Amino acid sequence: MNWYQLPQDEIESILNSRLDEGLTKNEQEKRLKLDGPNQLEEVKKQSAILMFLAQFKDFMVLVLLAATLLSGFLGEYLDAIAIILIVVMNGILGFIQERKAEKSLASLKELSAPTAQVLREGKWVSIAAKDVVTGDVVKIKSGDRVGADIRLLKTSGLQIEESALTGESVPAQKHNNILTADELTLGDQDNMAFMGTMVTRGTGQGIVVATGMKTEMGKIAHLIQSAENLATPLQMKLEQLGKILIALALLLTVLVVLAGVLQGHDLYSMILAGVSLAVAAIPEGLPAIVTIALALGVQKMIRKRAIVRKLPSVETLGCATVICSDKTGTLTQNKMTVTRIWSQGRQWIVNDDGFEVAGSGINEDGKRGDKLTEVLAYAALCNNATLEEGKNGSFIEVGDPTETALLVSAYKAGITKESLSEQFTIQHEFPFDSTRKMMSVIVQDTEGNQMLVVKGAPDVLMEKSDYIVWDDKKQLIKQAHKERIKEAIYALGSQALRTIAVAVRPLKEGEYYAQASFAERSLTFVGLQGMMDPPRPEVEESIRDCQTAGIKTIMITGDHVVTAASIAKKLNMLPEGGRVMEGAELAQLNDEELDKVSENVYVYARVSPEHKLKIVKSLQRKGHVVAMTGDGVNDAPAIKSANIGIAMGITGTDVAKEASSLVLGDDNFATIRSAIEEGRNIYENIRKFIRYLLASNVGEILVMLFAMIMGLPLPLVPIQILWVNLVTDGLPAMALGVDQAEEDVMRRKPRQAKEGVFSRGLGWKIVSRGFLIGAATILAFWVTLKENPDQLIVAQSVAFATLVMAQLIHVFDCRSERSVFHRNPFQNGYLVLAVISSILLLLVVMYVQPLQEIFHTVPLSLRQWLLVMGMASIPTFALAGFQLFKREIR
Ligand code: ATP
Repeated sequence: MNWYQLPQDEIESILNSRLDEGLTKNEQEKRLKLDGPNQLEEVKKQSAILMFLAQFKDFMVLVLLAATLLSGFLGEYLDAIAIILIVVMNGILGFIQERKAEKSLASLKELSAPTAQVLREGKWVSIAAKDVVTGDVVKIKSGDRVGADIRLLKTSGLQIEESALTGESVPAQKHNNILTADELTLGDQDNMAFMGTMVTRGTGQGIVVATGMKTEMGKIAHLIQSAENLATPLQMKLEQLGKILIALALLLTVLVVLAGVLQGHDLYSMILAGVSLAVAAIPEGLPAIVTIALALGVQKMIRKRAIVRKLPSVETLGCATVICSDKTGTLTQNKMTVTRIWSQGRQWIVNDDGFEVAGSGINEDGKRGDKLTEVLAYAALCNNATLEEGKNGSFIEVGDPTETALLVSAYKAGITKESLSEQFTIQHEFPFDSTRKMMSVIVQDTEGNQMLVVKGAPDVLMEKSDYIVWDDKKQLIKQAHKERIKEAIYALGSQALRTIAVAVRPLKEGEYYAQASFAERSLTFVGLQGMMDPPRPEVEESIRDCQTAGIKTIMITGDHVVTAASIAKKLNMLPEGGRVMEGAELAQLNDEELDKVSENVYVYARVSPEHKLKIVKSLQRKGHVVAMTGDGVNDAPAIKSANIGIAMGITGTDVAKEASSLVLGDDNFATIRSAIEEGRNIYENIRKFIRYLLASNVGEILVMLFAMIMGLPLPLVPIQILWVNLVTDGLPAMALGVDQAEEDVMRRKPRQAKEGVFSRGLGWKIVSRGFLIGAATILAFWVTLKENPDQLIVAQSVAFATLVMAQLIHVFDCRSERSVFHRNPFQNGYLVLAVISSILLLLVVMYVQPLQEIFHTVPLSLRQWLLVMGMASIPTFALAGFQLFKREIR
C-alpha cells in the first residue's frame, strides 16, 4: 500500500483523523509519546568525559605531565602534585569554556527551530515542528520548509523544490489526485510533500503520514548530516597564527633552556622550567576563548532580538558598509490603516466613523455611494485576512496587515466577510506574490455568474486594465483616465500612503485559467485605497547612527516610488542629490551601467525580489560589505549572496531564515543597528584579550630569557609559571571578552574586511608591553637579589608578585585602543572582580603557610611591595604617560 494511491476517506480512517477537524490536543500528545518527536536524530556528540580528556591531549601538556611524574619519582612529591593539580585545573577551565561555547551554539539552533501550522479540533494553530505527529492535518505555503511527510489533499498552485531528496532542482508541481501506478519514485509522487523539501509557490493541505526518522528524509538522514563548519575567519586565522606562535614560544623556550645550561644551571631543572614555560606561553586556549567571546556576544545580541544563525557573521557585521533594508515592517511599523479612497475621479477621507468626500465636508456612510461600496467590497472579497471578535467589541486582526486594513475600511461601510459570503463563493485563488504584485480570486455569485476579483499595486493593475468603471458604467479605459489614476497614485504616494487598487474581470461560464498570468488581464479598473504605515519611531535615530558609523543605508521596496521616496525623506535616508531608482529601470541596466550609478542610489522602489541580487552584486563589486534583509522565498538568493543575509523573524519564511546568517526577532531595522554595534564590540573585545594574553606571554618568556642571558638564577620556579598562566590568563581574559564597548565604536569607520589580527598597532602594543613587563620583572628580581644575595626565594617571590601585578594592571590598558587613561577602570565589574580575586589568590599563595612551601614563596616587606607595585606599573603607565606628554607638548 502506498499513501499516494489511497483516497482521502481511506487515509483518514487509517490514520484516524479528519481533514476538516484534525486531531485533538490529547490525541496529539498520546501519539507524540508513542512515536517520539518529529526530528532527525543527530550524529552523536562528543561525550563530556571525552571532551574533558581532550583538554590534556596537547603535546606540551603531555610532556609537562611526563616531566612532572619524573620529578615525582625523583622525590619532589609536593612539586609534582601541585603541578598536576594546576594542569588539571587548567583542563577543567578549558572544559567549562568549551561546554559553555557548545551549549550556547545549541541554544542558537533551538531559537531558529521551525514551526508548523496544524489543525486542532477545527482551529489552525502554530506549533513547533518537532511536535507534529502522524494524522496531524497541516497546511503549507510558499516559503515553508515541509516539516513531515504529508499526503496532500488540497492544493492551490503548489510547487515544491525537492532537490534535497531527489536531486531535481526544478520545483515539482503538486496536486491532490490519486495516483494509481505501483512503484513510483519519490520524484513522481506528485500528491505527496516530503519532510525537508521547500515550498516555492502556492499553498497546500494534507495529513501527516510519517514523522521523524520514519520520513523519507529520515531514511537518508545519515547521508546528509555533515558537520557544519562554524569557524569564523578570525578563528581560522588564529588557528594558523597559533601554529606560528607555538613554534615561536618553543624556540624561545629552547633558547632559555640552552642559555640556562650554558650559564651552569642544572639540565633537569632547566628542562622542567622550560616545559612549564612552554605550557604557559603557548596560547593554546586562544581559539576557545574566541569562541566564548563570540558565543557570549551572540547571547547579548539575542537579548537585543538579533539571532545569529552563523557565527562567522558576527565578525562580518563589524565590517558592514551598507545595509539594504526592506521598507514595510522593517523601517515602518506594518500597522496599516486606510485613510484615503479614490474611485471614478473622486476622493474620500476615511475617518474613524465613516467617509468624507475630500474637500466637501460631506459625510457619506458608504452604503449609499456605490462608487465607494465596490472598492471596499472587492478589496474585502479578495482577501485572506480575518477580523476576529475580541473583548468589548474590539477586533483581533489576523493575517497580513495590508489585508486587515482593507477589511477594517470595508467594515466601516458595514461590509464584512460574512455578508460577502452570502453573495459570493470563492472558487479559486491566485495567491499574492511580490513579483506579480497582486492577488486574485475567482468568485461566483448567487446567480451563478463568475468573476475574477483582483487587488494589487495600482500602476501594475492599471497597465492590465482595458476598462474602467467611470460615471458608474464600465467604459474602455482611455489615456485621460490613466492620467487621472496616475495623479491619484501620486497624490496618495506623496502623503507616504501605500496604495492598493482593485479591479475585476467578468468570466464566461466554464472559463477557467490554471495560471494567474492568463487570468489577470483585460481587467476593469475599479478604484484605489491608500493606507498609512507610520515609520517605526526608533528607526530615524538608528539610521543617523549608521550614517555616523560610516554605514550607508538603502531602502529596497516593492512599494510605489512616490510612497517609498516620501518615507525615505521622513527618515532622512535620502540625501540631497541621492537617487530613487525604479525596478523597471534597474531591470534595463547591465552590470556595468548599474555599477556606475549604484553608489548614489538610496531608494529602490517597485522592485521584485529578483532585483535584490543584482543590487547586492553591484555593491559588492564596488567594494562594499553588504547587509541585506528579506522575508520571502525569492529573497533567498540575495540573502545568501549578501555578506550578511538578514531574515525577518516574524514575517520571514523558513526559506529566507535558512538562507540568512542573522534573524531579526522583531523585524526591526533598529535591531540591525544594535547587531552591528555588538558585532563591532565583540571583535574589539577579541582584540583586547588577544593583546592581553600575548603581551603576558611575551613578558613571561622574556623574564626567563633575560635572566639566562644576564647569568642570573631562575627568576620563577615552574609551579609559579604555571600558576601565572592559570590565574592571570583565566578570569581576567574572559572578563575582557565581555567588556563594554568604547563609546566611540559607532563613530569609527567600518573595519576593513581584509584587516589582519595585529593591524592598527596591535602587534606593536603586544611586543612593547610584553617587553616592558619582562624588563620590569627582571629588574625587580635583580634589585632584590642584589640586596639579599643568599636568599633567592625572596627575589623569586618579588619577581612572581611583580609579574602577576604587572599583568593585572596591564589588563586595564587593554580595554582601550587609545590609552589606559581613556576609560573608567571600574566600568567592567567582571574585570574588577577577576582582578581582585587574582590578587587575593596571589596573597593566598604568598601568605598561607602550607602554600608558601608549594609555591616557593615568602611574605614580602612593605619596601619590597613598593618595589613590586612600582615596577608592575611601569609597563602600563610608562608608554601611556609618554604619549600623553608628547600630545601635551604638541
Ligand atoms: P517591502 O519590500 O519593503 O516589504 P512591500 O511590502 O510594499 O515592500 P511587496 O510586499 O512586494 O512589497 O508589495 C508590493 C506591492 O504589492 C505593494 O506596494 C502593494 O501595492 C501590493 N500588495 C502588497 N500586499 C498585497 C496583498 N496582500 N494583496 C495584493 N496586493 C498587495
